[in-house]
Amino acid sequence: MTSVRDAVTALNAGNLIFLPTETVYGLGASAGDAAAVAKVYSAKGRPHFNPLIVHVADLAIAESLAYFDDRARALAGVFWPGPLTLVLPARDNGRVSDLARAGLDSVAVRVPSHPLALEILQAFGSGVVAPSANRSGRPSPTRFRDAVEETGAYVAAAIDGGDCQIGLESTVVSLMDGVRYLRAGAVTRQQIKSVIGPLEGDDHDGHRSPGRLTLHYAPDAKVEINVTLPESGCAYLAFGPTSYTGPVFQLSASSDLSEAASNLFKSLRDADKLNPSKICVAPIPDHGLGEAINDRLKRASGFIG
Ligand code: AMP
Ligand code: MG
Repeated sequence: MTSVRDAVTALNAGNLIFLPTETVYGLGASAGDAAAVAKVYSAKGRPHFNPLIVHVADLAIAESLAYFDDRARALAGVFWPGPLTLVLPARDNGRVSDLARAGLDSVAVRVPSHPLALEILQAFGSGVVAPSANRSGRPSPTRFRDAVEETGAYVAAAIDGGDCQIGLESTVVSLMDGVRYLRAGAVTRQQIKSVIGPLEGDDHDGHRSPGRLTLHYAPDAKVEINVTLPESGCAYLAFGPTSYTGPVFQLSASSDLSEAASNLFKSLRDADKLNPSKICVAPIPDHGLGEAINDRLKRASGFIG
C-alpha cells in the first residue's frame, strides 16, 4: 500500500503520483521541476499551451507563488480548502516552472480539501501541479480504479483516496483582468458574487483559459444531451425516474444536483464500457451546480458553449 511518504519521495525524485482530491484524481508532479512537469504533459498527451493548476497546502504557500490582492484573499478565506482555483499574477521566482504556466505571466492555484491531498502537500511543502489523471480529452477519473486505468502506468506512487466526493473539476476564477468565471464547478457563480460582488465578464470562448477545448471529458461513444426518452441501443444517464428499458445509469434518483455531479464521470465511463450506439443524457437543470454539469456534458458531446 502506497503511503504519503512514498508520494513525497516520488515528488522529490521528479516522478509522478496520483493526488486524490475532493474534485477528481490528479496526476501530480513537483511544480518547480520542469522535467517532472514535462512528464505530466506527455503522460496525459496534453497540449503544451494548456497550463496546469498548482496545488498547495495553505494560503501562505500560495502567496509565495502568486500575488494576492484583497479580493483574492477574500475568496481564499471563504472557499479554501476547497474546489476553487484562482488565476493570479505569478511571482517570477522559479517555484512554478514556465512549462507548468504554459509561458503565461499568471498562475492557477488551489488548496484542496481532501485529507490525503493536504497531508501530501503539507509534507512536500511546496506546489504540486495536478491536472486530472485522465488522458487528454477523456472523462476525468473520480474513482481510484479509473485513475489507474488512465495513467496508472506513469505514476511512481498511486495512493487510493476513495471515490471523489464532488466529482467535477474545480471552479476556475481569474483575477487577472477584472473577475472572470472561467470554468464552472462546485463553487457557483452566485457564491463568488456573494463574496466579491459582480463579475466583470464571463469567458465562454476559452481565450483566457487555454484549456477550454471544445471536445473534452469525452468517452468513446457519441454523447447526446437533453434526451428524455432514448431510442433502443443507447445507454441512458437518467436524472430522476425514467421509463427507458435499456441500460440506465442513474445520476440521481431524487434529482439531486450534487449527487448527479459525483456520479457523472463514472457513469460516462461505465456506460461507455457497454459499447452502446450512443450515450444519451437526461436534461439537467442549469441552476447552481447544474451549470458545471451541463458545461462538462456539452463538451463531452462536442457542442461549443
Ligand atoms: P485541469 O488541470 O485539466 O483541470 O485544467 C485546468 C484549467 O485551468 C484549464 O482550463 C486551464 O486552461 C486553466 N488554467 C490553468 N492555468 C491558467 C492560467 N494561468 N490562466 C488561465 N487559465 C488557466
Ligand atoms: Mg482535466
